[in-house]
Amino acid sequence: MEYDYDLFVIGAGSGGVRASRIAAGFGAKVAVAEEYRVGGTCVIRGCVPKKLMMYASHFAEDFESARGYGWNVGETSFDWKTLIDRKDAEIDRLNGLYIKNLEAAGVEIIDGRATIEGPNSIRVGDKVFTTKYILVATGGWPTMPDVPGIEHAITSNEVFHLDELPEDIVVVGGGYIAVEFAGIFHGMGAKVTQLYRSDQILRGFDDEIRGHLHDEMIKKGIDLRTHVNIVSIEKTDDGLLLHLTDGSELKTKAVMYATGRAPNTKGLGLHEVGVACDEKGAIMVDAYSKTTVENIYAVGDVTDRVALTPVAIKEGHAFALTVFGDSPTSPEHDAIPTAVFSQPPVGTVGQSESEARATHGEIEVYTSDFRPMKHTLGGSDERAFTKLIVDKKTQVVVGAHMIGIDAGEIIQGIGIAVKAGLTKAQFDQTVAVHPSTAEEFVLMRNPRS
Ligand code: FAD
Ligand code: NDP
Repeated sequence: MEYDYDLFVIGAGSGGVRASRIAAGFGAKVAVAEEYRVGGTCVIRGCVPKKLMMYASHFAEDFESARGYGWNVGETSFDWKTLIDRKDAEIDRLNGLYIKNLEAAGVEIIDGRATIEGPNSIRVGDKVFTTKYILVATGGWPTMPDVPGIEHAITSNEVFHLDELPEDIVVVGGGYIAVEFAGIFHGMGAKVTQLYRSDQILRGFDDEIRGHLHDEMIKKGIDLRTHVNIVSIEKTDDGLLLHLTDGSELKTKAVMYATGRAPNTKGLGLHEVGVACDEKGAIMVDAYSKTTVENIYAVGDVTDRVALTPVAIKEGHAFALTVFGDSPTSPEHDAIPTAVFSQPPVGTVGQSESEARATHGEIEVYTSDFRPMKHTLGGSDERAFTKLIVDKKTQVVVGAHMIGIDAGEIIQGIGIAVKAGLTKAQFDQTVAVHPSTAEEFVLMRNPRS
């Protein structure tokens, strides 16, 4: 049978764009539907604007450090609108680049919301297209708990377009987005309170890294409170009044929820064609990203495997190789390096100490807690911490963790070594880069007892 397309991709985000371009490169006739803006969450309202805002916010500390190095820094002030305008211009540029690259690859971009009508047909508005394969790459959406007054709260969707910098803000949650934005708003001069419902932020990360970040955030002046949540939000004449689970009240100008994201699967027509989803609504896939329907695949956040851009890209690429490149490829999900762009930042790859203990039994743990050289003259009392976890029997490094200046940059290189399964002796044989903070990873000699 003749179809309009070989591949119809729903969602032009990280996973969908990569899959479309690679499939088209193999000669497939490809269309991609996008209901908002080409580039998806990462480019439009995720990684990219977040990182630009993180850079902006860090200048406050940089100006302070500069004085310690002899610079005479005049009066400084921060203009929110200038940042937002310049950030928007950069996002527009990237959005244009993504469109250009898709078009250059021969991919047809269809504006609008797509739904699945049948295993081989897609509807966008009043048009129906037929296709041999469907790839669902619709990403995720911020979720908020159902507390009274929640309509007064914002999420990461709105945070990039606030009219002005709030003088104070309450951030709810203890995951990536919450700690990143607590740092961003604090650096820009807002008074920040962060509320986390459990005992320690960044669940799933190494416990010492979590504790270290908690301490550093408090030291910087963020009012980070654990074991507390919001019961209700009341609008007042001059802002919001939050009623908390510990019985206290908190007055604030703004409240941002960063309480997780849900897969974008509602109303897509998945159930009707037999694509199975789990209890969270995530599309269930096999090792090659194939759903329970033979010609329908899914990649990225919508599958709730690992919600990171490079992972969505890898899954999209592997899908295209498998289906159009005659080269079945399963995206590997082990030893994924990741960074939290908190202040200070966190970089991590492989297992945490508790995970490693559970899987390997006997392990060796190497740590180093130090004051980065930059801070000696700069004057900051921020400390850095590095940690290696080694399987005692094989001597393979199974986890590497860092918090401190440039952790996100450093962990990429360490990630290669951990992914390659190198041993502690091979780390030690590597010559240090001096003076640096990264060198700690090849200098930690004595395991902690
Ligand atoms: P998305 O990029 O979300 O793309 C899905 C696209 O599908 C969207 O453009 C959407 O509009 C479109 N769509 C949905 N439904 C339909 C439909 N029915 N029809 C047509 N189009 C549709 N990851 C990192 O690795 N590093 C970071 O620093 C980082 N920072 C982040 C910061 C924030 C604030 C957020 C929210 C996320 C961040 N992430 C980061 C996560 C990263 O953005 C996601 O993992 C990544 O974008 C997932 O890619 P995807 O292709 O699965 O989905
Ligand atoms: P996360 O899942 O990372 O964190 C959600 C947080 O909200 C957790 O601390 C969770 O607590 C808390 N929470 C959940 N429900 C409630 C509730 N009802 N009330 C109070 N707190 C609640 O989600 P994020 O939204 O921060 O980010 C989504 C994903 O996007 C990340 O997991 C990550 O994969 C990706 N991302 C990556 C970034 C990067 O690479 N730098 C940056 C930003 C996002 P608990 O721990 O108790 O469950």
